[in-house]
Amino acid sequence: MRHVIVAANWKMNTTPADAGDLARTIAARTREAGVIRVICPPYVCLAAVRDALADVDLAAPEGNPVAVGAQNVHHESAGAYTGEISASMLAGLATWVIVGHSERRRDAGETDQLIGRKLRAARAAGLRTILCVGEQLDEREAGRAEAVVDAQVRGCLAGAELESLGVEGNLPWLTIAYEPVWAIGTGRTARGSDAAAMADAIRGTLAALGMPNGGEDVPVLYGGSVTSGSIGEFLAEPAIDGALVGGASLKPDEMAGIVARAGLTAAARGATAPGRPLADPPA
Ligand code: PEP
Repeated sequence: MRHVIVAANWKMNTTPADAGDLARTIAARTREAGVIRVICPPYVCLAAVRDALADVDLAAPEGNPVAVGAQNVHHESAGAYTGEISASMLAGLATWVIVGHSERRRDAGETDQLIGRKLRAARAAGLRTILCVGEQLDEREAGRAEAVVDAQVRGCLAGAELESLGVEGNLPWLTIAYEPVWAIGTGRTARGSDAAAMADAIRGTLAALGMPNGGEDVPVLYGGSVTSGSIGEFLAEPAIDGALVGGASLKPDEMAGIVARAGLTAAARGATAPGRPLADPPA
């Protein structure tokens, strides 16, 4: 049984002055049993969000708090890398991190090889990771979407010690977000059936790479213009375990709707684990 995860990617939005209030509002309105909630604000807002979420009343009924994630991490542990943040610097601020987002592949020239180094750095620091993969529109139209994503997963995980990437603390260390690039921020979504087919293909790649349990434990999220209105199409697919949400994650009404729908899937999967935190408490 895989957990249901809703991760909010706030991108370059919010300030330290307003991020805490937004996080608290979202947390209070998304207290669904069995759903793992992760909020990924900008680096400078991590402390404000962590502090805002420290209130135990914001935890979901079975005691799982909202986890805090970073949107990126550097591949080295320290050194002359102006403006960068290493995984160890995130200790006490975040327990999750997004790596390989298509906006960073596009704007910062991140390659699969570099993303693989980020994954290893995050892993070494004990951060849970959300690895983003996804094809461009022309690649899908050319029938190459699965081949592109297969190459991304292989490229990012090359050199990773897959046998050590199993389940830790009730959750796998690795989550994969399938985000077709043409769906991000465009208002256009993939079809649920296409996203599910991609999730199956991703697990096929993980199995071929030797991932423990054939990759079946690894949650696969869909991302790309998810809203409270579209989330149901994705969560109706057993292969899809939740969503990475961008624009809609800044809107409490949208997050409430998305997590409420995720709660139905979590309940159907029997996901509640009373007394056992599903996500790491904020440090
Ligand atoms: C994202 O940033 O990962 C994303 C999916 O954005 P949006 O939901 O705005 O398309």
